[in-house]
Amino acid sequence: MDISLVIPLLNEDESLPELTSWIEKVMAEHSYSYEVIFVDDGSTDNSWKVIQQLRAKNPHIKGIKFQRNYGKSAGLNVGFAAAQGDVVITMDADLQDSPDEIPELRRLIVEDGYHLVSGWKRKRYDNRLTKNLPSKLFNAAARRMSKINLHDFNCGLKSYDKKVVKSIEVYGEMHRYIPVLSKWAGFNKIGEKVVEHRARKYGVSKFGWERFVNGFLDLLSIFFMGKFGKRPMHFFGLWGTIFFLIGFAFSLYLIISKLINFEYGITNRPGFFIALTAIIIGVQLFLAGFLGELISRNSTGRNNYLIEEKEGL
Ligand code: UDP
Ligand code: MG
Repeated sequence: MDISLVIPLLNEDESLPELTSWIEKVMAEHSYSYEVIFVDDGSTDNSWKVIQQLRAKNPHIKGIKFQRNYGKSAGLNVGFAAAQGDVVITMDADLQDSPDEIPELRRLIVEDGYHLVSGWKRKRYDNRLTKNLPSKLFNAAARRMSKINLHDFNCGLKSYDKKVVKSIEVYGEMHRYIPVLSKWAGFNKIGEKVVEHRARKYGVSKFGWERFVNGFLDLLSIFFMGKFGKRPMHFFGLWGTIFFLIGFAFSLYLIISKLINFEYGITNRPGFFIALTAIIIGVQLFLAGFLGELISRNSTGRNNYLIEEKEGL
């Protein structure tokens, strides 16, 4: 199979028919063998019904329905696991991504040998202050931290070599930083293609202000994981040990000086207070690192979502 399209969606019933016929048109023009995997991420509108109707007319249309809303990352992850095509292309369901980009996105993988090609919405029609500016800052920070030269990490339109999607696990809110996951897995030929940003035609955006909180937390986590090889222990553990040793050495000094010379001895209360504080901070940091280590080792609970129904898979 040439192409698997993976499309996560939450309450997009109005867009789906138009999106599907556009995709069908592009696929027919290039005679691609393909599948479209719609992942219904807990929609409460008619999205699943619409997907079933679309499948009745075209067996290339497939669907997975989550029991509830688990987020876009979970949707992509389950779509990646199901995809059979040699090239996997993701796009948003809201008609903001154009299916006309599919052939070139595929060509860059198949002919130019990229592992991942990310869309770059150079020209945006979003609000400058609330969306464009923060997204510029995020991308600049992500570029610095990951050393991946992309302008638009979060663009929903991306194409992948099949090997990549079968090797990475998109968990939490990491859909914003999939190129980073790809690089960590060793797939570092990452390219970029300018794509059209279209205005949302139906429905509303599903990400509110909390996108910035989540985006920021993910940025911190890619920073720590990238720098310390997924080992928070190495960062916190190091500083914890340093604080602990300073506190320990200082109290030892105070005790010895008491034994030798009573003037600077145990009566030096501020000194002992500082030493004790350093020891406590050290132990706390060490424990923080240890907890981080436990969590990062125990990946259960990352992607344990329930699938309510499937179509064609
Ligand atoms: N989406 C999803 N689960 C969610 C939130 C969003 O599957 O919890 C889908 C949504 O239906 C759309 C894509 O992710 O297909 C991008 O979301 P949206 O268009 O709301 O984001 P924006 O374009 O405003 O960044
Ligand atoms: Mg959108």
